[in-house]
Amino acid sequence: TKSLAETDPEIARAIDLELSRQRNTLELIASENAVSRAVLEAQGSVLTNKYAEGYPGRRYYGGCQFVDIAEELAIRRARELFSAGHANVQPHSGAEANLAVYYAFLEPGDTILGMNLAHGGHLTHGSPLNISGKYFQNAFYGVDRETGRIDYDQVYDVARRSKPRMIVAGASAYPRAIDFARFREIADQVGAYLFVDMAHIAGLVAAGEHMSPVPYADVVTTTTHKTLRGPRGGLILCREKYAAVIDKAVFPGIQGGPLMHVIAAKAVALGEALRPEFKTYQRQIVLNAKALAAALIERGFELVSGGTDNHLMLVDLRNKGITGREAEAVLDSAGVTVNKNAIPYDPQPPAVASGIRIGTPQVTTRGLDGADMERLAEIIHFALSFKGDGQRLDRARRMVEELCREHPLYER
Ligand code: PLP
Repeated sequence: TKSLAETDPEIARAIDLELSRQRNTLELIASENAVSRAVLEAQGSVLTNKYAEGYPGRRYYGGCQFVDIAEELAIRRARELFSAGHANVQPHSGAEANLAVYYAFLEPGDTILGMNLAHGGHLTHGSPLNISGKYFQNAFYGVDRETGRIDYDQVYDVARRSKPRMIVAGASAYPRAIDFARFREIADQVGAYLFVDMAHIAGLVAAGEHMSPVPYADVVTTTTHKTLRGPRGGLILCREKYAAVIDKAVFPGIQGGPLMHVIAAKAVALGEALRPEFKTYQRQIVLNAKALAAALIERGFELVSGGTDNHLMLVDLRNKGITGREAEAVLDSAGVTVNKNAIPYDPQPPAVASGIRIGTPQVTTRGLDGADMERLAEIIHFALSFKGDGQRLDRARRMVEELCREHPLYER
């Protein structure tokens, strides 16, 4: 058998280039991470060859005895990690996990109350661009203009008026802790299901760095590839009483055969997350985010809500005279990867945006610590605060190279 480089040099080259990009740049996209070699190995395994429609012990295909071991381990570890009654590890992605939840609990035309996309919510929480906003009525809550935080009285107010069948809590660009107990109260007051999409903060939740939604929500979804540091994929947790309805919604409801190689990789990542080092890692993600936020504020940057409780921050760039789109491009040229992001009540269209979103999960995996956050803030400052200053941009680039050299990725 020939290697990839021999059989398909074009793809091999794209992979090589991506590896060197990951090694030689600082990845600050809040939804990304760098998985372990063990996760890569499981995901690149022969389990990709196997059809296994159904669930362990009740498959529609023969020869599933070994992939069953992998899926059973993934389920057991997910339940243990999050103290959940039931886990479904088959969703191909976060969006699929969310679709399965809607399919399980709602009828077309029911109302979903989710967080406004423009305030940090996710497309799958009722946006008209997504199936969740096409097949269901939507209503939205947002953050307070002054504080940048979710206003729970407003959530209750909108809930009372819109009478949702389901309230969705969870976000893609919200730098503060979310009070799931309060969401439960509101859901109970209006007779709605509470669905929590903890995709961004799942690792923090697993490590006790954020309140767990599991005791409060009827159903919880997450992606497995963000702070949780697993392969790209989705996961659903629910109370035991919803096990059958959730399993049926995933398969045969919205998916066909599960991706057994990805499920094996999820099991590996969940196993890693059960170890004590993972707690230390998640703690460091949060410490790094706080350190970076403080160092940016010191350099005149404004953060939505004034700081962070989790792994990410939203920088409001308006006082720097640079748009999110420009900032993303300048940082890219310095070797720092971020994404432009709308800030709440953004006067700019989303394609331009007034802010950038910055997250610490991936650089923390590389081993950057609090002192490095000071250097990182200096890099961002040099790149963004002095428009057109080529010398400072060069200096930023060299500092990125230094940090990358000191914290190698996939070297051993
Ligand atoms: N939910 C939230 C809160 C997210 O941030 C994301 C990813 O951006 C998703 C769901 C969707 O996950 P995926 O990209 O795996 O479909």
